[in-house]
Amino acid sequence: MANIKNLFRYIPKVDEILEDEKVKESLNRVPRKIVLSSIREELDLFRQEIRSNSLNEEEVIEKSKNIVDIILTRIKDKNSYALRRVVNGTGVVIHTNIGRSLISKEVMENVFEIATNYSNLEYDLTTGERGSRYSHLREILCEITGAEDAMVVNNNAAAVMLVLSTIAKGREVIVSRGELIEIGGSFRILDVMEESGAILRAVGTTNKTHLYDYEGAINENTAALLKVHTSNYRILGFTSQVLAEELYPLKEKYNLPLIEDLGSGVLIDLSKYGLEYEPTVQDSIRKGVDIVTFSGDKLLGGPQAGIIVGKKEYIDKMKKNPLTRAFRVDKFTISALEATMRLYLDEEIAVEKIPTLKMLSMKANELGKRAKTLIKMLNEKIKCDSCNIEIVDGYSEVGGGSLPLERIPTKCISIDFGEKNITGFERALREFRIPIISRVYKNKLYLDLRTIREEEYDIVVEGIEYGIERMKGCI
Ligand SMILES: *Cc1c(COP(=O)(O)O)cnc(C)c1O
Repeated sequence: MANIKNLFRYIPKVDEILEDEKVKESLNRVPRKIVLSSIREELDLFRQEIRSNSLNEEEVIEKSKNIVDIILTRIKDKNSYALRRVVNGTGVVIHTNIGRSLISKEVMENVFEIATNYSNLEYDLTTGERGSRYSHLREILCEITGAEDAMVVNNNAAAVMLVLSTIAKGREVIVSRGELIEIGGSFRILDVMEESGAILRAVGTTNKTHLYDYEGAINENTAALLKVHTSNYRILGFTSQVLAEELYPLKEKYNLPLIEDLGSGVLIDLSKYGLEYEPTVQDSIRKGVDIVTFSGDKLLGGPQAGIIVGKKEYIDKMKKNPLTRAFRVDKFTISALEATMRLYLDEEIAVEKIPTLKMLSMKANELGKRAKTLIKMLNEKIKCDSCNIEIVDGYSEVGGGSLPLERIPTKCISIDFGEKNITGFERALREFRIPIISRVYKNKLYLDLRTIREEEYDIVVEGIEYGIERMKGCI
């Protein structure tokens, strides 16, 4: 034990560390509070290590020599944002874990203008009186979707809950068993329905539901018919589901509202851009669905939001529901969504300016050109005998629970180190200054050109350089 006590004398004092040139320099950039707490935390850890007898004298001396560098790393970590940009090399365009849809700079200019100034958020400029924050989006959403009325809440899960709570609290909602889905982040349609106070009446079976199943379940306590887009999966084979338009006569006969949770909410015909045809919001409205809900940040390519479009009589009721206050959108969402929706007034502009649509519609020859540009940059910068870097064909995914079966041909840069395990390289890219998220398959790492923008190529080259150094054991 005496031995341990002796070892404590190798631990430098806080004041000594503050005298170090590199630490002094960091005080020019970093708040003093962060520098001090980083020093204290690392010294505490050092003390604990000695106390637990995990270091011998030699190791303690070694560590005391390196302690300033260890502290500088901690200062750097503490001083960086917790939420940071990353490069998406996965080829999954709407990747929920890394931020779903990107917002274009143009749209953000509008957000900047609104957020850094006062605005008419809830102020009617014609009457000089209180206005509604929902009014700004109403017109443009109706114009584009063809609906009678529209409102917006924080996300589509909130939209579904608000709709059901308003229309079916304490009453029954009929939904097919084939549509009782769970989407990412364990959002289950069933749980949301229960929270809303609506009573679920599941009909049919997983693979088959018929019109007579719906009709047989209708009783005096039925409040609505619900269709849910089975976003992230498909039932194939011996199946049949009732389409929204087939439910229309039933809804008319029994005078029930027909609700559809579309999930992604596509506003343009994706088949024009080489993807599978995905029913649009406009289709649902045209087919007589009374209320349609969808996300703002999936295929629509805007900010996180839950958009509700449909009949005015129902939307008026929703606006009076106290949940609307709890789910209300802020001015960032409203300004970003309005600017995004305006791009849809001209479809060509939407596909060009909305990053999600632009990436999804990118053609093979364009991807090929981009792959060549990037690999040329890599070859100029990187000398690596132990690794292979090449252009290969691959498949991108839409993601976000949209078009789950769609595999879009793409070009990737593949990197491998022969027999050497690729996981260390994957981790190095992930831990790079600007983290690069990639895909690993059969001991090769892939970077998909579809989701990497040209302005990110320099970062990718630098990141790969850094990763290779780490693989060599230099860093
Ligand atoms: C994604 C999705 C939701 C949830 O939308 P968020 O905007 O993520 O809350 C709800 N329903 C369906 C069918 C979905 O695909």
